[in-house]
Formats: sequence, structure tokens, C-alpha cells
Amino acid sequence: MPSETELIQRYFVFEQGRADVIQGIGDDGAVVMPPAGQELVASVDTLVEGVHFLPGIEPGAIGHKALAVNLSDLAAMGAEPAWASLALTLPEVDEVWLRDFSRGLKALAQTYGVALIGGDLTRGPLSMTIQVLGFVPRGAALYRSGAQPGDRIFVTGSVGDAGLGLAVLQGRLELPSDAAAYLSSRLHRPAPRIEAALALRGCASAAIDVSDGLALDLERLLAASRVGATVELTQLPLSPAARAAFTTPIDWSQILTAGDDYELLFTVAPERAGAMEKAFDAIAGGATEIGHIEATPGLRCTLEGHAHARPRRAGYDHFAQP
Ligand code: ADP
Ligand code: MG
Repeated sequence: MPSETELIQRYFVFEQGRADVIQGIGDDGAVVMPPAGQELVASVDTLVEGVHFLPGIEPGAIGHKALAVNLSDLAAMGAEPAWASLALTLPEVDEVWLRDFSRGLKALAQTYGVALIGGDLTRGPLSMTIQVLGFVPRGAALYRSGAQPGDRIFVTGSVGDAGLGLAVLQGRLELPSDAAAYLSSRLHRPAPRIEAALALRGCASAAIDVSDGLALDLERLLAASRVGATVELTQLPLSPAARAAFTTPIDWSQILTAGDDYELLFTVAPERAGAMEKAFDAIAGGATEIGHIEATPGLRCTLEGHAHARPRRAGYDHFAQP
């Protein structure tokens, strides 16, 4: 049986090529050098088996997603990711599982130039906690609280895919195999919107990532900014696979409350919209305007201009009563 140190060496020490890591894995703490004049942004998230992923999911996807959800939080702050640490709890040492998990994590880390600088390994029910650190130029962080009446509301990529992917996985929805595969990859391998985040610096007035459903996350942004909004449902960006999931009419409540998309939801003052749209020409997945900010608090939805009921269920909340 390999020792804890051997396991860490085997699965979590990899080439990262960052000159700002002075001491990575191997000592009691990591030492890094933040760039002069920048602010550090920190975020942490835990994934628990049975809560955030179903037992039996490919370990590579778990490794990817555990990091992706954290990078998505940094993206929502307009931050460039730099360093991560991983606290991993395993029921037993399964080297095939560890190899695949670490490959998924490493591939995403290397895509965004993120160094894994430390962590912890413990025995217990399967769960993992990743902390990420990134930076933004002084004063450039994006907050939930900056939206103003008159601002335009945008969302990157497409919404509702991950929730539909889960429905396919749980046998609640049947789709052609290519649409099913696309939706399942959106659920299991979300792409953190880092490039979009960097393009939003200096353009967006407020931002949040969509992890618990568009309606709930937009309401969080509205509450933090002390404003309201109207969203036109027919403008919500749906992927071709999501459209294939609905024989008309579209279940807007499902789209508004589905979690796990990890898109960025952001607001832009009208005078900045031109600059933002120009910056987004080069961003894969783009961004779509879905509504606007108003002074009256609360979220209002319209369908082709007519008032539409708010979704029955708000979105995902671990502690809400069913
Ligand atoms: P300590 O007992 O001093 O906390 P550990 O034996 O837990 O140290 O860890 C040894 C080194 O390996 C530390 O630098 C720690 O950050 C790193 N490490 C431990 N577990 C992980 C992991 N799952 N991923 C990455 N690095 C890890
Ligand atoms: Mg330790």
C-alpha cells in the first residue's frame, strides 16, 4: 500500500510552469508571490458524493468539475486564476480512481495555467474541497452589487443544459444520442468562463455565476444591488440540444431553475455595451442580452412582452425546505 506522501507525489505533483510559486506541494504551507498592484481573490467550494455528483460518475469528470466550479467563482469576480489547493477525503485508496480523478483536475488546471500548490488527504465519505486564488488589477473586481437601473442584462453561452443533462441521466428525459451526449458533457465538464470574465473587466457593472439556476442567481445579484429586473424569456439562449428536449411549449420554469450551468450572468451600463459587445466578438459561446435592470425590486419575467409567472421553485438551495 503506497504511503500518503507517495500518493500525493504520484497524483498531485505535476508540471505547472508558474514562476510565482516559490514553494508548492511538499512543505507545511505553500508560498506564492502575488503580482504587485493586484488584489487577491479567494474562493472555496466543496463537492460531496450524492449531493453534487451521483455515485458512479466517471472520476475524471469529478476532478474536472471540482476545479471548474471554483474557477467559475473566480470568473464571476473578474479574476484571473493562479493557484489552487485540494482537500480530498476518500473512503479507501483506489489508485485507478485517483489516477482518473487527478487527470481530470490536471487537464483543466493546465488549460488555465493554474498551479496546484497544496492540499490534504484524509479517509472518510467521498468529498473534495478546492480553494482557488486568483488576482485582479486593483479596483477591477466585479461584484454582485454594482447593477444600476437602466443596465442591460446578459448571460454567456446557453442556459438550462446541465439540468436537462441530469434529467437524461436520471431517465426522466429521452433524447437522440448526440443531444444527450452534449447535455451530459455540459453537466459533467462545465467550461469556466475565464476568457469572458477578463473581457468583462471595465465593462460590466455587476456579475455572478449561474450555479443554482438563472432565476435564483439573478435574484441574488438584484438583492445585492438593491434593484429589480425584467427578463424576456424568449431571449434566453438555449442550445440546439435544449431546444430538442422540448416539444412546444418550452418549460421556462425548468430553464430558469436548473442549476449547474456555470455561465456568467452580468449587467452592463448602456454606454459600455458597445465596448462589451466588441470585446465579446472573440469569446467562444458569446453572450446574449436577456433583459434589463429596473429600480423596482424583484424579478419579473415576460413572454413575448406579456407578464409570465415566476418559476414555482426558486432554484437550488441546500438548506431550503422542500
Ligand atoms: P501536513 O501533515 O504538514 O499537513 P501533509 O502530509 O498533509 O502535510 O501534506 C504534505 C504536503 O502535500 C503538503 O505540502 C500538502 O499541501 C500537500 N498535499 C497533501 N494532500 C494533497 C492533495 N490532495 N493535493 C495536493 N497537495 C496535497
Ligand atoms: Mg495535512
